[in-house]
Order: sequence, then structure tokens, then C-alpha cells
Amino acid sequence: MTSVLLNGCYVVTMDGDRAEHGSGHIAIDGNKITSVGPGPAPAELDLAGARVVDAAGCIATPGLVNTHHHLYQWATRGMAVDSTLFGWLTELYPVWARIDEQVVAGAATAALAWLARTGCTTTTDHHYVFPRRGGDVLGATVAAARAVGLRFHPTRGSMDLGRSAGGLPPDEAVEDIDTILAATADAISAFHDPEPGSMLRVGVAPCSPFSVTGELMRAAASLARDHGVRLHTHLAETVDEDEFCARRFGCTPVEYLDSLDWLADDVWLAHGVHLDDAAIARLAATGTGVAHCPSSNARLGAGICRTADLLAAGVPVGLGVDGAASNEESSLIGEVRQAVLMARAAGGPQALSGRRSLELATLGGARLLGRADEIGSLEAGKLADVALWRVDGFPQAGVTDPVAALVLGARPPLELLLVNGSVVVERDVVQTVDERAAAAGARAAAAAVR
Ligand code: ZN
Repeated sequence: MTSVLLNGCYVVTMDGDRAEHGSGHIAIDGNKITSVGPGPAPAELDLAGARVVDAAGCIATPGLVNTHHHLYQWATRGMAVDSTLFGWLTELYPVWARIDEQVVAGAATAALAWLARTGCTTTTDHHYVFPRRGGDVLGATVAAARAVGLRFHPTRGSMDLGRSAGGLPPDEAVEDIDTILAATADAISAFHDPEPGSMLRVGVAPCSPFSVTGELMRAAASLARDHGVRLHTHLAETVDEDEFCARRFGCTPVEYLDSLDWLADDVWLAHGVHLDDAAIARLAATGTGVAHCPSSNARLGAGICRTADLLAAGVPVGLGVDGAASNEESSLIGEVRQAVLMARAAGGPQALSGRRSLELATLGGARLLGRADEIGSLEAGKLADVALWRVDGFPQAGVTDPVAALVLGARPPLELLLVNGSVVVERDVVQTVDERAAAAGARAAAAAVR
């Protein structure tokens, strides 16, 4: 059986040979891809009842995987626009302390719908602010992801190192360690689905070296490993963090994490901007992943990630938009372009190709989430997460290489976005939730926290 057939598109498979087909097909049955190749679909495919899409003028890529985000921050965009990370956080922590499940529902729905519009089919979320009277804010993100229809890897974040104990966040924004560990175990049992084809997997994510105690880092790692779920945190984002670690722990951020048993192939780190050669070698040796967030790093003036060196060393790298409060655009296809530009601004025109950057946003992200066997490439047997971009319209028409049109050109309209075989975006409009209602919800959420 075939439920959807895309015909006549340029296909970027990201398979083992990185095959591309100038005019190819993708056949889907339910939530799985059944055939990908050059030319039209094989004659033996049963097309009775199938939706056949004439995809001429389009480029098909694996759905993009977003490896770092804070959905709730959609409600606090446009604040502290000229600050460093620590200045920005200090201004925003008290605002974030006012969020509740209604604010998070509005922010997350808009953030997820926009991610879909920018080619994302799987996203993580790092939620680490849990106000005492905020209700079920994590549950609000899960409900929003189900409504929008994205594959979702939320992480139960946490902060337990308040200002009075030497941390950066105000004391009212942190929780105690027992509450955090109990709530994290609850989140895993309530939401985590380990089955193949899962639409929702939970991770564990203490926030950063300057907002979390070493005790919580160790306990969180052991809890995650007991439950077979993945670990995530922020690391090596700024010079200020380097100085904090030197002062408080007498070592670099990577050495600190190493001492806590946090360097391993079930861990991925957001940012990894300030890494020396020894740190990169250690990440590579342990298989620890990096979620590269180029726009956020640039917006906060944090620095330029050594992407080419990470890749040369064999460190797993994915891309992330980061929270919308430090990347108001929050476009995942935009990050593919930004990663190329930042790498080349630092390391010359060979530092990162458009195709390699697209690979980071697809297969690279899938690997960080432990899902490379299921998503990240267009191959028979994989889950039907597909982005179909129109590149024959006004902004891209005539660009020689469709991949260059997609990565280096203006963001093309999304002709179709399939997640698990279901339509989420069609002709650049989200189909699962109403975009005007999502915008109204985002405005209400922003007004509520201000
Ligand atoms: Zn972040």
C-alpha cells in the first residue's frame, strides 16, 4: 500500500552514500517510507487510494531535527537585546519566574508551529523554569507538541543553585534537589515512550554549571541512566562561564563535566563554543554530542563554535535554534545557513559546506537524540518525516544547485511537511493548528509575563 507519493522532486536522501536524485520519488505507507529513488515510483507500487503529489520544482530533504530550544521563551522575545548571556539571563530570570502553564501553552504552540514552518519535524525542548504556582508547565509543552504534530523530545530541566549559594539565578527561580528528582522521575513515567516510532521521548537536563549544583548533576545522570533516557545541559557557551568554572571549580567547563561522569554518548551539550583542543578531543573520545546554535551565539555575542574542528575530531554535532528570547527568528532552516556563514567567517570558505550543514540539521540531530536508525535520512524503512521545499518561485528561481538555493538562498516556501506520514504544513501554512490563533496565544502569553 502507498498513502503518499511525491514525484519529480530533487531528493537529498542523506543515506549512507549521501545520494541525491535530480528528479526522484518518495513513497510512503502510513508512518514509514517504502521507496526512495531516481525517476518515478516503481511500477509494482500499489497506488490505489494514494495521494500523488506532483513535486516538480521542489527539493525534498529529511525533516529537520532541532536539538536545542526553550519553547517558553517565545513569550519573552525582544528583551535585553544588547546584553551578554549573563546580563540577558539576569534581566530575564525574574520575568520567567512569572510563567505558568497557560503562558507556556501559548508560547509553546506558537514556537512549535513556527518550527514546523521552517522545516522541523522533530524538536527537543529544554524546560528548566518551574514556578511554584505555575501548574503543569512541562505538560503544557507536551500538549502543544501533540496539537502541532511534531515528534517531541522534551527534557525536564532544573536549577538548584540560587544566588545566595553562589549561582546566577535568583533564589525564587530555583527548586530543591529532592523536588527536582521526584518531578523528573514523574515526567519520565508520565510521558516517555521508548517504543520504535515514538513521537515522544523525555530527557533529563540540569541547566548549566552556574545554575546547578554538582550534587544535582550527579544525581540527574544516575536517574537518567536508571531510566535509559538521555542527558542534556548547556556547556561552554561564554567566556563568563569559563571564568565562573575556573573560579568555583578550578577547571574548564569540560573538565568539570568529566569529573561528574557527564561525558558519554548518551549526553548532548548545547553550544560548545569555548572549547580548547583537549576539550574537543575528550568530547570526541567519549562520543559526547554538541548542539550548535549559531544564531543565538551571534545574538548574544558569545563567540563562534569551532564547528570544523569538532567535525574533524569526530564529535557528533547537531543544530539548534536555542530559545526564542536569544534568537527571535527561531528558523531551523535559517540555522543551516547561519552555521555555514559562521564557520566560514571564522575558518574560510572550506570550513563547512551547505550539504554538510544540512547533514548536521538532519542525521546529525538524529544521532544526538539516539534516533539515527529511525529519522534523519530518506530511506525505505525509516519514519516518514519529510520536508518538501519549493525552489522554483521568485526568491530561488534559477539557482543552479537546489541545495544552494535551500541553504544559501532566502527561506523557500514549504510545499509540504510530513511528520510520521501526516501533513503538518502545506503550501507554507500550518494545517494542524490555526496560525492566527497561535499568534493571538503568543501575544497573550507575552502580555501575561510582562
Ligand atoms: Zn539554551
